[in-house]
Amino acid sequence: MTTIREDSMPVVLDCAIDPTTTTPAVRRRLTAALDLGDDHRYDVSLVVTELVGNILDHASGVGRLRVRWSAVPCTVVVEVDDTSPLPPVHGRSRLEGARGRGIVMVDALSGRWGTRALADGGKTVFAVVGCRPPQ
Ligand SMILES: [Zn+2]
Repeated sequence: MTTIREDSMPVVLDCAIDPTTTTPAVRRRLTAALDLGDDHRYDVSLVVTELVGNILDHASGVGRLRVRWSAVPCTVVVEVDDTSPLPPVHGRSRLEGARGRGIVMVDALSGRWGTRALADGGKTVFAVVGCRPPQ
């Protein structure tokens, strides 16, 4: 299996998140930026909604969303920066309280996900969402 260097994949969507951002607006931009099959777009949309929603609901409401897409093999990387140094796994109880099992769902839909610390004290949460295997 080829290892994809996700930070070298082309960025197809890069947008600021602030407290006026709504997840439906983000999903519309996502749909416009990605040419994916329905299942893959749905999975990516759920992951983006969860990670962006986490910033809006639990963090400062300020951050940045980047979406990277490589067509072969079809893989999408969602990256969300926020200003909190706390890893999302420690925020599990907050997610469960507000919207159900947020990070559990991200884990289920992502081949791989994790966090990277940012120099300014915040972090990036990234999730690699591949095409579903054929049924
Ligand atoms: Zn795909």
